[in-house]
Amino acid sequence: MSTQQENRFQAIIAHAKEYGFVFQSSEIYDGLSAVYDYGPYGSELKKNIRDYWWKSMTQMHENIVGIDAAIFMHPTTWKASGHVDNFSDPMIDNKDSKKRYRVDHLIEGFADTLIAKGETQKAESLLQEMEALLAKEDFVALKQLILDNKISCSISGTTNWTDIRQFNLMFKTEFGAVASDNPDDNIVYLRPETAQGIFVNFLNVQKTARMKVPFGIAQTGKAFRNEIVARQFIFRMREFEQMEMQFFVRPGTEGEWYKYWKEARLQWHLSLGIDASKYRYHDHVKLAHYAKEACDIEFEFPIGFKEVEGIHSRSDFDLSQHQLYSKKKQQYYDADVDPSTGKPYGNYIPYVIETSIGLDRMFLLILSNAYDEEIINKEDGTTDSRAVLRIPAKIAPVKLAVLPLTKKDGLPELARELMDECKPFFHCFYEEKDAIGKRYRRQDAIGTPFCVTIDHQTKEDGTVTIRYRDTMQQERILMSKVRELVMEAMM
Ligand code: ATP
Repeated sequence: MSTQQENRFQAIIAHAKEYGFVFQSSEIYDGLSAVYDYGPYGSELKKNIRDYWWKSMTQMHENIVGIDAAIFMHPTTWKASGHVDNFSDPMIDNKDSKKRYRVDHLIEGFADTLIAKGETQKAESLLQEMEALLAKEDFVALKQLILDNKISCSISGTTNWTDIRQFNLMFKTEFGAVASDNPDDNIVYLRPETAQGIFVNFLNVQKTARMKVPFGIAQTGKAFRNEIVARQFIFRMREFEQMEMQFFVRPGTEGEWYKYWKEARLQWHLSLGIDASKYRYHDHVKLAHYAKEACDIEFEFPIGFKEVEGIHSRSDFDLSQHQLYSKKKQQYYDADVDPSTGKPYGNYIPYVIETSIGLDRMFLLILSNAYDEEIINKEDGTTDSRAVLRIPAKIAPVKLAVLPLTKKDGLPELARELMDECKPFFHCFYEEKDAIGKRYRRQDAIGTPFCVTIDHQTKEDGTVTIRYRDTMQQERILMSKVRELVMEAMM
């Protein structure tokens, strides 16, 4: 990461704290590593992103329904899903600094330094070799790759590494108060993904909502991973939120549905008005044995291009595993006629296309994309600056600030009238304090797209000054038109 990128990232983190978006968890006790709390504007923004996703999935697709499954699940779920045995990352420790690294992160970090030095080809072949070795789980050769490239620890500067080991990322806890001879009897896990809550409810949902394949089940909720290295603010957390959708399809149609969702999910991102050049796909080389295709949607964060969402074609792996472990059939009867046989397709376990996005990561994406420190050239030849969050109006925490120019002459009463008219429809903010310029700056900093000033002319002709966050332009419009204007911008 260049110094400029690092500075921008640090500025965003500081801004997020100063304006009540994100705080470190239990900060008064010096915080808890990789756990964060969302403040007044942060929780509003997070909710708006979640709602925007939820609406695009459920309301806009007649064949997708939602659920809200519990965080705790029967422990066998995680045996069946493969998480107990396989949900681990290869890690390595530096013996001198005692610092622990995820092997792929260590090598990728080194590749970044090669790219910065112009040695792009060397970096690419290193990454290819790494992916191939990771796919084979050849940890001896992976360690040799680290040694051959003289990849050192950023703290100690040495290459004194331990062997590579697997580290399971699931958090365990005890369930209930019943003593047992076997302590394993009471163990439950904090779910490391929301998807399994969807899989185990597949038939409940299909039957009760009378869904026909192809159909989807969407869910948002907390997930927990004991990440080996959890840095980079809310990019990688130990407690985070996911927004996942499993789309159940007839076997043989998964290729076309994978293509559909890969494209549809990128379009969802672009529908927020974000520049397409900041996105790219990363098609996976290393596929899980059951996976048919997989890709990430990557965004250019201040820390470089990184994954924000994954789209995976998972075959019938999850449902088949649950059928095996639960001994309950997970089949669907498809009454549609197969034109090649003239008979119904009949019973099968559907194939699944999964779309999985981190809500916190999407939040960071929005903040990174929105944050701007702007130099303003003033009419008198001097300059000023402002920090502005150019958050899309449809997800901005506050949509409209209502600002009476003075605290007297009936202006607050008129402003209150506008507040009362708009409040039921979208989030408004009222403020009388300080000079108007200062009040505008505060709204810029939290990303409010519209400010309306009520002044003496309002009393005479019912007009107000509306000021646009992004252009800072102002115009007079009828107060009676404000609500409509804001609502149009939110569509
Ligand atoms: P990574 O390679 O970054 O660890 P992953 O491939 O393990 O991520 P998935 O299991 O596919 O991630 O999870 C889907 C999405 O959940 C990711 O695209 C990301 O947005 C989000 N996510 C995963 N782990 C975390 C985390 N520790 N903190 C925040 N978001 C996360």
